[in-house]
Amino acid sequence: MRVAVVTVGDELLVGETVNTNAAWLGEQLRDRGVTVERTTVVPDRTADIARVVNEYHADYDAVIVTGGLGPTHDDVTIEGVAAAFGQPVVESEEALAWLAEHGGYSRADLAEGTGEVPAGSSPVPNHEGVAPGCVIENCYVLPGVPTEMKRMFAEVADEFSGEQRHVVTVDAAEPESALLDRMDSVRQLFPVKIGSYPGEYVTVRFAGTDPEAVEEAAAWLRERVDPVEE
Ligand code: ATP
Ligand code: MG
Repeated sequence: MRVAVVTVGDELLVGETVNTNAAWLGEQLRDRGVTVERTTVVPDRTADIARVVNEYHADYDAVIVTGGLGPTHDDVTIEGVAAAFGQPVVESEEALAWLAEHGGYSRADLAEGTGEVPAGSSPVPNHEGVAPGCVIENCYVLPGVPTEMKRMFAEVADEFSGEQRHVVTVDAAEPESALLDRMDSVRQLFPVKIGSYPGEYVTVRFAGTDPEAVEEAAAWLRERVDPVEE
């Protein structure tokens, strides 16, 4: 399963808020064997949200959108997603009934716009906050507040699955440039994906769906590099 993540918020673009939702979703999806092909940050602007959601929903098996769900004037995600699917925004009876039953909110208690979702979508309850999420076709719209987002992802997580990938890393106490010959060889010998991540030392990451091939490739390289002293 190939998925795109769209995180919405002006504050993310300028670094005022660190995009922890993207990192958390990436890890959760990876653990489920899902491939995240895109993570995009867009401003709180209806047209930008509509454009990427429209593009990604056609290109990927699913799209997860987080942020900008509340009823304040700068929260336009619902409008953007509705526009992407050519739908109007409507008040969800189901979402309002859930809020009345679980939160004790009457319609009058709620800010204008609460409970609005794109027509044709199914609302997803927000156990940690007020604004409901929704699912429309293959697009899952979740809140921006990390605790709310995580809790709501749990409601839909079963719909995200794929082939498990096995990952093994090897650390090498050599400059990355010195490792190039052995990296080329290991790449030719084993059918696995290899990534190299330099830092204090170089971490070489092996990944693939065949655990044996991944282990063999890692063992091959481990025997041929200077180990990192603990
Ligand atoms: P609510 O449903 O409570 O109104 P919301 O869906 O409207 O929430 P936002 O208004 O976009 O969410 O953001 C709420 C808070 O969550 C803000 O403090 C924001 O910085 C933070 N937040 C939003 N997106 C992310 C993200 N991708 N990573 C981490 N924090 C985020
Ligand atoms: Mg916001």
